[in-house]
Amino acid sequence: MSIQFGPEYVRAIAPYQGGKPISEVAREFGLDEAKIIKLASNENPLGMPESAKQAMFEAVSDIGRYPDSNGFELKQVITTRYGVPQDWITLGNGSNDILELAAHAFVQPGQSVVYAQYSFAVYALATQGVGGRAIVVAAKDYGHDLKAMAEAITEDTRLVFIANPNNPTGTFLPAADIEAFLKAVPKNVVVVLDEAYNEYLAPELQYESTAWVKQYPNLLVSRTLSKAYGLAGLRVGFGIAQPAVTDLLNRIRQPFNVNSMAQAAAVAALNDSDFLKKSARLNAEGYRQLTEAFDALGLEYVPSFGNFVLVRVGSEDSAGARINLALLKRGIIVRPVGNYGLPQWLRISIGLPDENAAFIDALKKVLP
Ligand code: PMP
Repeated sequence: MSIQFGPEYVRAIAPYQGGKPISEVAREFGLDEAKIIKLASNENPLGMPESAKQAMFEAVSDIGRYPDSNGFELKQVITTRYGVPQDWITLGNGSNDILELAAHAFVQPGQSVVYAQYSFAVYALATQGVGGRAIVVAAKDYGHDLKAMAEAITEDTRLVFIANPNNPTGTFLPAADIEAFLKAVPKNVVVVLDEAYNEYLAPELQYESTAWVKQYPNLLVSRTLSKAYGLAGLRVGFGIAQPAVTDLLNRIRQPFNVNSMAQAAAVAALNDSDFLKKSARLNAEGYRQLTEAFDALGLEYVPSFGNFVLVRVGSEDSAGARINLALLKRGIIVRPVGNYGLPQWLRISIGLPDENAAFIDALKKVLP
């Protein structure tokens, strides 16, 4: 018998399935890399802002030194933007890092973590990675049922994950619902409010979660530079919470979890409001382009508040995988979501107008 390493809860983890890299699809299907269109990982189709690229180049000359472990300059920008002191901020290697840190800091093996069905896959991974017990609450209209989630909390619950907007479904929870939830949750349960797609919300939907952080010592808001700010490859995110929570996260993070080029680029990107506006505008236009095509094709989709749309491409459980493969052969990479329990659906990241058009064209050809 071969030796088994590690605890059973680690061995039971199903690895994260990311969007296929362009180079891999080119190799697998014998396609020209330059012609492949990737709408699979909710990246910013504009790429990174020019301002951030410049800041990175400047940071290169100092790369022989370790980064600022406390990320002073980056925290300074966040402080000004969100009106919270530096010791309320945790920097992360992507916001994924913040989610992991929260699980490590607050959950012991056997204790429970509450999250919603069809919510971001990393909540399950982070929970399992620390031997936590997942309490998965049935979704309502593909989104979080916050009332049911509050009721699902037990004596041993230490953490709740909420994504707003949610990935992969794109659903949105209005501010009043989240506030009611925060009121209902026991004070010893940490609530992670994951706002990775916040910057795509229309102005009338925006709300100030940092005001809640001031009111609720058990609230941790997480944000990322990977989406609207266009820095997915650099890996920068941050968490905002009161010191009682932040202090623990900072104790267990790697001392240099955000590299110097990433810190420099993040400072520039956060200050680049023109790029952010351009990204949001492009996304709104792309959303219209995709959903008008889905309407014309009679395809069901979940109204989305993020930079992607979940669309049902058939009524049999093989539909998602089948259409996905047919699209891959045509050089279009989207995201199958069978691993989320949504085998009839595909998640399409919103791209540039011509990328969206190429996807729509290919979809028309591969649909039965
Ligand atoms: N939260 C949600 C809801 C996401 O969709 C993602 C990215 N897929 C993340 C967090 C993590 O992104 P990052 O680590 O790049 O910040």
